[in-house]
Amino acid sequence: MKLRIAVLQMSSRLNQFRSNVAKAHDLVSQIPPNPLGTPQLIVFSELALTIYNFHSRSSLLPYCEIVGKGENFRMAQQLSIKNKSFTLLGYPEITEDSKIYNSAMLVSPLGKLVYNYRKTHLYESDENFGCSESEVGFQSFPIDFQDSAHKSAKEIIKCSIGICMDLNPYKFEAPFEKFEFATHCKENDVSLVLCPMAWLHSESPSITKQPGDWDIEMQEVPQVVDTNGDIRGGSESSRSSIEYWWLRLSPLLALKDKLITIVICNRSGLEDDVLYCGTSCILQLDTSKRKIHLLGSLGWKDEGLLFREVDTMLEL
Ligand code: GLN
Repeated sequence: MKLRIAVLQMSSRLNQFRSNVAKAHDLVSQIPPNPLGTPQLIVFSELALTIYNFHSRSSLLPYCEIVGKGENFRMAQQLSIKNKSFTLLGYPEITEDSKIYNSAMLVSPLGKLVYNYRKTHLYESDENFGCSESEVGFQSFPIDFQDSAHKSAKEIIKCSIGICMDLNPYKFEAPFEKFEFATHCKENDVSLVLCPMAWLHSESPSITKQPGDWDIEMQEVPQVVDTNGDIRGGSESSRSSIEYWWLRLSPLLALKDKLITIVICNRSGLEDDVLYCGTSCILQLDTSKRKIHLLGSLGWKDEGLLFREVDTMLEL
């Protein structure tokens, strides 16, 4: 089957939920109606509409919501219903017993919550804001794209979600070659890997400890990447980030005769002295030829949307 995917790379601002939401709607509405039609899956980044780098539990708390309730959920519902698509949205979750999770919700074209994933490998910032690790770890589940407006022969696709640090070794301490997330995806024969990110730029002042002239100008005009791969305007993608991401997912190449789609949605821009590397992309692993195809990527400082129609199965 063919699957139309929209990846929203945004530079959301703190306390500007409404304008962040408006930007998301605006980007999706720029997808040309023809020849492909509307997306069946819209993917946002990690904590996409708040920001990621909160320094304490108390600073994040006002933005947290219970799964299936709250502003993030309503936004995902509206977008899904309007576009007849699934929406994957990273958001800060709080439970009835006040535990905080860094989560991603998947909402159906009918506006129903179909899945809620909680980040398993925590990064420094998650620990700073008192985030708990997922108790169940990596999971895989089927998505029935039959719910979307665009029906075709076979629609159930097995999917796993990994949020940013999930791609790295646990606490940067586990052996690199353990490939925890990729191993889970491989063992569960996953065909669609969805990764909401807030991945840092390698020259982020917070890493290099040289806060300085990172007064970056964002790409003002939202850009739509067409299906031929032509990027209109835009900055360069971070090749080293793409290479690292696929390296961390490369164990999937061991699966037999499969086409595996990997959707990476990262934020761009600055949060205090933290600079993100954007570079949201769609990758496909063709395990029959042991090949990795980059189907499209955004630049490191763009705010924009990547739209692709991809095959989800190999023609054998
Ligand atoms: N190691 C990742 C990075 O460098 C983790 C960040 C995150 O989990 N948001 O960006």
